Parts: sequence; structure tokens; C-alpha cells
Amino acid sequence: MTQINRSDLYDVVVIGGGPAGLTAGLYLARARYRVLILEKDDFGGQITITDEVVNYPGVGHTSGRALTQTMRNQAKDFGAEFLSAEATGLDVNGDIKTVHTSRGDLKTFGILIATGASPRKLGFAGEAEYAGRGVAYCATCDGEFFTGREVLVVGGGFAAAEESVFLTKYASKVTVLVREPDFTCDAAVSAEAKNNPKIDVRYNVELKGVTAGKGGLREATILDRGTGETESWKPSDDGTFGVFVFAGYVPATELVRGVVELDDHGYVVTRGYLETSVPGVYAAGDLRVKNLRQVVTATADGAIAAVELERYAKQMSEKTGLVPPRPTASAYEQAEAQTAAAVNSAAAAGTTPAPAPVKRSADTAAATAAA
Ligand SMILES: Cc1cc2nc3c(=O)[nH]c(=O)nc-3n(C[C@H](O)[C@H](O)[C@H](O)COP(=O)(O)OP(=O)(O)OC[C@H]3O[C@@H](n4cnc5c(N)ncnc54)[C@H](O)[C@@H]3O)c2cc1C
Repeated sequence: MTQINRSDLYDVVVIGGGPAGLTAGLYLARARYRVLILEKDDFGGQITITDEVVNYPGVGHTSGRALTQTMRNQAKDFGAEFLSAEATGLDVNGDIKTVHTSRGDLKTFGILIATGASPRKLGFAGEAEYAGRGVAYCATCDGEFFTGREVLVVGGGFAAAEESVFLTKYASKVTVLVREPDFTCDAAVSAEAKNNPKIDVRYNVELKGVTAGKGGLREATILDRGTGETESWKPSDDGTFGVFVFAGYVPATELVRGVVELDDHGYVVTRGYLETSVPGVYAAGDLRVKNLRQVVTATADGAIAAVELERYAKQMSEKTGLVPPRPTASAYEQAEAQTAAAVNSAAAAGTTPAPAPVKRSADTAAATAAA
């Protein structure tokens, strides 16, 4: 084995700083393992583009950025480390694995892949600009925000057919834009959409662009693929509307193609406790085969994988005799120790203890979010 410098060694390197990766970092650091979270773009992941999150249990209403900033602060306060870098390759053989990154190589016992998956974009004018502000990719997440409004659904597959029916719970009317002459999914699924009185299906059409005005999206441009003509579309009440795109998901798993087992669609195949086909390599969040891609399932994955990785790192540490420089006293523990010391000295002096624990990052974030 090549000589390993203990101070360079991690218990776990987490690739991806979205909800799954941040939660794993929090759990591992709290259990006093040395964990590094790598992120190539924005810590927080794809939920950061969403201004309204109302379905994360325990948090009534927040933005994706505020929610994940709190997660990051929690992980930091327990001693997790962070690095803004892209993972570019993995060597997963042996007790000590290597993560190659845009800022150098990292040595670690365990690896958590939490690189996410993103909805496939179509590239129509305004799609990127209004993503999260009128253009949506998830009916469960955003359908309710269009209560009483019209929506356009783009897509002709299973998701478009099924989700257009779901959206009728909220929308006043749903217009489905299908590129082909018919839905491409099972006829029984599309029949529900076709027979729903609140759904209008248009075939051989393409959404070319959307424009916004006061309060949201105001106008869409639709191409008739048969005639080649474009029309300007507006909802019947001339108000704002939503666009839901269902063109499939793209898992961010190129990094691990040929390294761990993937399914036919490129998602990572995991076992019961989120181990991949390679011992010591776990996967959490949207990039793995699962039936619901949400923040709550990503954070749950992160916690489950972290607890398994704790065991794995402990075993490898015992086997190799190497102990990474692990966090000893977190900001939480320092705060608790300070409070306990204040209580003890107040008791000795017969006075009221000073209520001044150390200000932690998570408190700061909560205060900011509440403000
Ligand atoms: C518009 C939109 C709205 C949504 N609204 C909701 C909602 O209201 N409620 C809800 O529960 N869910 C919602 N979701 C779904 C939710 O965002 C995801 O389920 C969740 O973010 C998945 O978390 P994750 O950690 O698995 O992946 P991600 O959030 O995708 O994070 C993965 C991270 O890994 C990083 N990464 C990728 N490759 C590398 C690499 N090679 N090296 C380093 N870093 C890398 C990425 O940059 C990214 O930050 C929404 C999604 C979208 C797109």
C-alpha cells in the first residue's frame, strides 16, 4: 500500500452538496467522523432554485436556499468540512479509496455519491429564466401554487399523462402539449387524461417560448408541427399561468458509470441500506433508483447511508490502523459546555446563570430565515 498521511485521510468523502449530501455530512460529523462534502456548483443542490418549499415536514414555509443553508450550517457546526470542487473520477479498490477532484486527490475510507438528478430541459425561450417562477418540473412540489390558474403541460409520456390528471386538483384547466400524434405511454394511462373534462390535449405541437409580465407567465408561443405555424397562447381569463415540463429526468451519474452498477436509465442501483455494488461506496438522493424524488426522501437517504458509512469507516480504521483527524468538540458541544460552566459557577455563587451560549451558525440561519 502507498504511504498514507493520516492528516490527509477522511472517513468519508461525500460527492454532492444537495440535501442528501448535507444530511449525510451532518450525521457523520455528529458521530465524530471526519467527513468532507464536495460541491461543484452551489451548496444546497437543485432545490436552491425554488423560492417556495411547503412540503418539508416541520418547516411550514421556506425557500430552498434557506432550508439548505440551515442544513449546511448544522453540518458545519458538527464539524463537517466543505470543498468547492468537482469530483472527476474514483478509484474504489482497496481499503483506502481515492476521489479525484478539480482541486486534487482525496483519500478516504468510504464514499457517498449524492450527485442528484435533474429534470430534462427542453430549451424553449424563457425556460431557464422562469424555472421555479412559472416553469415547473414537479407537480407534487409546485402544483398547488397554480390553484385556480390554467397550466400548460409539456410532454407526451407516462409522467405527462399522469401528472396532468394530478394537476386538475388545483388548476382551473390543463392543456397538454404533445409533440407526437398521440401519447407515447400505455393507453390506459393516457385515457384518464384524455377523458378528464378539465384537460385539453393538443397533438403535434411544441412549446417554443414563454414570456412573463406582472405576477408571472403571461403568454406562450406554440408551434403546430403539421402546418409549421406558430400561435400566441394565453389562458382564457387573460391571467397568469404555469408550465409543467415532463420530459424525463437525467441522473448525474457519468462519474460512476462503469464503477458501480447502474440501471438502464443510468440511476444507481442500491441495496437495502443504500450500499452500491462496490463495498464502501454508498448512494443517496435523487441519483438512485427510487419512486419519489423529493427533499424529504433525499435527506432520509443521507441519514441512512451516513449511519452505514460510520460502521464502514470504523471497520476500515480498525483494519488499517489509521485514524483520520476526526472532529472532537463541535460548536454545539462548546455551547453546551459553556452553558454548563455558567450554571455551575452561578450555582456556586448563588446567582442566576448567565443565559449566553455560543452563537452557532444554525441559530444565525434560523434567525435570518425567520426575519
Ligand atoms: C424546480 C424544482 C422544484 C422542486 N421543488 C421541490 C419541493 O418543493 N419539495 C421537495 O421536496 N422537492 C422539490 N424538488 C426536488 C428536490 O429538489 C430534489 O429531490 C432534491 O434536491 C434532491 O437532493 P439530492 O441531494 O439528491 O440532489 P441535488 O439537490 O440535485 O444535489 C446534488 C448536488 O451534487 C452536485 N454535483 C453533481 N455532480 C457533482 C460532481 N461531480 N462533483 C461535485 N458535485 C457534484 C450538484 O451540483 C448538486 O448541487 C424540486 C426540484 C426542482 C428541480
